[in-house]
Amino acid sequence: MTISFEPGAPAESDEFVPLCVPEVRGNEWAYIQECLDTNWVSSVGAFVTRFEQELAAYVGAQYGVATVNGTAALHIALLVAGVEADDEVLVSDLTFIAPVNAIRYVGAWPVFIDVEPHYWQMDPQKVCDFLTHECHWQQGELRNKRTGRRVRAIIPVHILGHPVDLDPILVIAQQYDLVVIEDATESLGAKYKENSVGHLGHLGCFSFNGNKLITTGGGGMLVTDNATWAEKAKYLTTQAKDDPLEFIHGTVGFNYRLTNIQAAMGCAQLELVDEYIQAKRQIANHYTAALTDISGLVPMREADWAFSVFWLYTCLIDPDLYGDDSRRLLQKLQMAGIQTRPLWQPMHLSPANKKCQSYYGDVAEKLNATALSLPCSVGLTAKQQQRVVDQIRSTGRSK
Ligand SMILES: *Cc1c(COP(=O)(O)O)cnc(C)c1O
Repeated sequence: MTISFEPGAPAESDEFVPLCVPEVRGNEWAYIQECLDTNWVSSVGAFVTRFEQELAAYVGAQYGVATVNGTAALHIALLVAGVEADDEVLVSDLTFIAPVNAIRYVGAWPVFIDVEPHYWQMDPQKVCDFLTHECHWQQGELRNKRTGRRVRAIIPVHILGHPVDLDPILVIAQQYDLVVIEDATESLGAKYKENSVGHLGHLGCFSFNGNKLITTGGGGMLVTDNATWAEKAKYLTTQAKDDPLEFIHGTVGFNYRLTNIQAAMGCAQLELVDEYIQAKRQIANHYTAALTDISGLVPMREADWAFSVFWLYTCLIDPDLYGDDSRRLLQKLQMAGIQTRPLWQPMHLSPANKKCQSYYGDVAEKLNATALSLPCSVGLTAKQQQRVVDQIRSTGRSK
């Protein structure tokens, strides 16, 4: 492929289109300046408290505890939920690995539950089947029949901006006395039947990494309505200090705090989150409309019961109908300066988690083989999006 252009003036068509980059256009400069001017730059400060309160309020939760990143929030959520070494935690098979790593940090074992084929989220029917058929009660505890280990919690991961069908999971979790920790890191602002994700289970976790809907550079938050858990989370994220003067520590704590500078950025980002969501939904609508008549391409969907924030717009590529498989299309788009990405390797295939049990996984494997996430930054221009669409169209076949 050769495109000629004047030196120093890159052709429009050669402009690199990244997958998903931060959007900074609000009060970030002003708030960070305030931190620098007042010398409140580190791990306590008014912005930390404000960000915790505002984010919790945004999702309808009572308490928010800021953390250094989303993985740390998940780690702390597992600890306050009482998950212990050798316990088991059900988690989505198709996810970024962070929640699985968090489970491993506490010495517990993930059990990977396959996803459903429509919205690609943890399959509630498989959760119910696993708990009903593969587990049994022993001396008041739910144990996995195969491993003999205690099952303690479920981490549904709301991937790509779309919620998990959570009601059946909440019902069975209550029946089996399991804690539900939502990994809502990819879905801030998404709603499940009118309620915000992150505030549907017992604990919810968010991330403010650079590629997420809003960013603090790096950061995370745990939200809950449980005052005791919120207090314990704050305690554990701040080195478990029992006496601030004498430095007495009652247990092993962590330095998982978010700094005031980062929280300042978070406050500014949160002010515009609804605009960002609107932009994401508009991008998604446009992709879906523009790609729908391409043979072998299945656009991302939104369930009747869902309000998706379309954090990462993703489509499925059927190689037989489209002509290329997802990886070949990725390469072609790469050559055209367009960044795309497949979905994660399903967790049951993860070399780092070889010894862990999985409950099915064929849907996750199929999605992994066919899915491709397209550029969808909040600031994506109509021109850029058109270029992506044109490239995909010229590669594929029309219906
Ligand atoms: C981004 C992400 C996290 C947390 O990531 P951090 O980089 O630690 O903030 C957790 N789970 C999922 C599914 C994610 O995509």
